[in-house]
Amino acid sequence: MNHCISVVNAGSSSIKFSLYDNLDKENLRLIFTGQIDGIGTAPRFKAKNAHDEIVEEQAWENSPDADHERLMEHLIGWIRKNRQALNLELVGVGHRVVHGGEFYSHPQLVDEAVLTILERFIPLAPLHQPHNLRPIRSVAKLNPDTPQVACFDTAFHATNPRKAQMFALPRWLTDEGVRRYGFHGLSYEYVASKLPEYDPVAAQGRVVVAHLGSGASMCAIQRGKSIASTMGFSAMDGLPMGTRPGNIDPAVVLYLLQEKRMDTAEIETLFYKQSGLLGVSGISNDMRELRQSADPRAREAISLFEYRIQRELGSLVATLGGLDALVFTAGIGENDADLRARVCECATWIGVKLDPEANRNREPRISSNDSAVSVWVIPSNEELMIASHTRDVVAGMIHPFPARSDYRA
Ligand code: ADP
Repeated sequence: MNHCISVVNAGSSSIKFSLYDNLDKENLRLIFTGQIDGIGTAPRFKAKNAHDEIVEEQAWENSPDADHERLMEHLIGWIRKNRQALNLELVGVGHRVVHGGEFYSHPQLVDEAVLTILERFIPLAPLHQPHNLRPIRSVAKLNPDTPQVACFDTAFHATNPRKAQMFALPRWLTDEGVRRYGFHGLSYEYVASKLPEYDPVAAQGRVVVAHLGSGASMCAIQRGKSIASTMGFSAMDGLPMGTRPGNIDPAVVLYLLQEKRMDTAEIETLFYKQSGLLGVSGISNDMRELRQSADPRAREAISLFEYRIQRELGSLVATLGGLDALVFTAGIGENDADLRARVCECATWIGVKLDPEANRNREPRISSNDSAVSVWVIPSNEELMIASHTRDVVAGMIHPFPARSDYRA
């Protein structure tokens, strides 16, 4: 019987999953991937094989029978049925967990004590952490003997120097954990692990990665390690995003509380769901829709997004003391050639020179041969990163197979 690992990435209205085997080989192999989305409205289940062909689809009327827990039970049952048909034994489940707090800077085998600690970080990421943790309980209930591994979005940034982590707030708040953590770490870690295949010299130098999706952030990486990023205490800081404003003056919060008499729930909704590209355009949080719109507010939203990327790039390059490579990743970064062109145009001062044709064709290298900074499009794969970490953590626990670090040695 072959071994396999499943990966779960659960949000407020969706649960993404994938299944990998070939744990004893250097490259894990994707077997299935899919998601349940529309949770809370009209849940739909879809699974695809590694050739991107749909192998199963199902839809539910919204009802109490289709809540997170029931849908997770459905998913666990589906995975069990399909892996058994392929004669695969499940040796671990890896979970994306947004916040590891100050406790966890590496993937962590989860038991009840760890779960209790992770639940303490819910106030630090109220819209993500509870949804990330819920499937861990579901798996523990239905498959109590299967090891589960939490992989954190904050962990990659644990290498940030203390001054990059601190707010200039009274010390007691810093001591309590009110500080910058940074997020999208699994994406950055994956990109940092791929860059040496494309540009081994720059990968050992100074790199900025722009993860531009519904959530957006940028990270400064020096010799493969994160030294600064645009997200901070929460995943709301830094760049404007689909529905989040990014960095704003904290006095705006006081103004909303004192002058507009908004309560905390209203402010939370404003900042997490009604701002960013959606708030500025009044049209959509989806970049594709904004690109197709002739409305000047859509143009303004895109232009603000580009401007803020340009400013953050300058700040991160200053932190690095120069730049050897710039990498675009995630939905917008991988697909929006116009946005990449605009960011590169504004970065000529650092030595970036775009190859417009390579950019239109979405080649991995989109900078010209004489560009002082190499510029790349590298698709992110957070699921594979989680699967790989999970393999490393469970290696040797049940049935011996080598951890990835052993392949590198
Ligand atoms: P997340 O995983 O955070 O939900 P993604 O990385 O999937 O986000 O990115 C979603 C964003 O990518 C959306 O704003 C979407 O409009 C944008 N996007 C996807 N394809 C394209 C495209 N071809 N051109 C421009 N934007 C795109």
